[in-house]
Amino acid sequence: MEKPTETLQKKPDLRSMLPAELQAYVKSLGQPAYRAKQLFRQLQKHGAQDFAHMSDLPLAFRHYLGETARLSSPKELRRQISSSGDTAKLLLELEDGVLIEMALMLYRREKARDRATVCVSSQSGCAMDCQFCATGLCRDFRNLSAGEIVAQVQAADRLARELGYEGVTNIVYMGMGEPLANIEQVHRSIQLLNDQEGMEIGARRITVSTCGLVPQIYKMIEWDLQVSLAVSLHCADQKRREKLMPVAARYPLEELIRACRDFRDRTGRRVTCEYAMFAGLNDSPEDAHLLGRLLTGCDILVNIIPANPVPERGVQPSPAQVIENFRRIVEEEYHVASQLRERRGADIQAACGQLRRGENSKK
Ligand code: SAH
Repeated sequence: MEKPTETLQKKPDLRSMLPAELQAYVKSLGQPAYRAKQLFRQLQKHGAQDFAHMSDLPLAFRHYLGETARLSSPKELRRQISSSGDTAKLLLELEDGVLIEMALMLYRREKARDRATVCVSSQSGCAMDCQFCATGLCRDFRNLSAGEIVAQVQAADRLARELGYEGVTNIVYMGMGEPLANIEQVHRSIQLLNDQEGMEIGARRITVSTCGLVPQIYKMIEWDLQVSLAVSLHCADQKRREKLMPVAARYPLEELIRACRDFRDRTGRRVTCEYAMFAGLNDSPEDAHLLGRLLTGCDILVNIIPANPVPERGVQPSPAQVIENFRRIVEEEYHVASQLRERRGADIQAACGQLRRGENSKK
């Protein structure tokens, strides 16, 4: 007997289709071409969660699609909003029962448009096994489809509006998973989110974060989009970085930094490097000097992140004073620009590397 997931996979996933693909699909059903445009707007701009709601399409066509196609519409299982009301987290169930999380960060701004940044997952679980990250401990590992990524942004957009904001303005691929290990669906999702008939999120407002898959960074350069790149560096010593992040053995620091420079030179976009500070692992003054030396003259911005504790991994955040001292060395002695990321969502475990904690252990 067929498993339910196999039946699902046979149905075309319409929210993952680019405009030309949707056109070919609609044409194959003997429908006029303008239906593809209507359908695309329903799927991408309006975030329709059910064919029945697409009231501009004929009833019979909606019925037919409902029987033969699918929408990648995740179900909201749970929502948590931080006590400060500016950070939220949704637990979503995908069509095959896999659970993922998405976080939303809201910023009121005096002189500029308010910002609503959604942090999306690109995989459920992760195969990279970074030794400080909670995602790697999740079961049910699989890639998400482009439609499943877009649907997270749409769920965040609805939530932002409910909370009194004008919808999602920025997207970071910093939820569960390694986006560049699922690069095709991630690329496709960015094209969909960027489309004028879709949510129209500017490429410059989209950031892809990677643990350092060098060949895929070069693929990203070929996209020829103004997307931002963030690299999770976390340690400037090759041997210790390999222990913290097994991927470092495949792509050493030297190659990674070269790829960042090439990205900057060829796209004109400055790369950000993320450095989460873990007590006793990567936060000594020597570590600061190594980082300063590695990045001098690279035009890379360092994002210093107070780490989040992951008890199962035995990692703890560095004390504030240690972080301050680290940052002073990097900035003052090496003139490497840095910023300290504010800590958000700790009370709802929406912080980096913590998504889907608790839920996983309950299963
Ligand atoms: N796989 C991608 C994106 C997902 S994680 C990447 O590695 O960049 C988003 C960020 O959270 C990464 O920089 C990751 O290294 C970081 N992170 C993971 N666990 C963390 C923790 N316990 N504390 C702080 N940051 C963490």
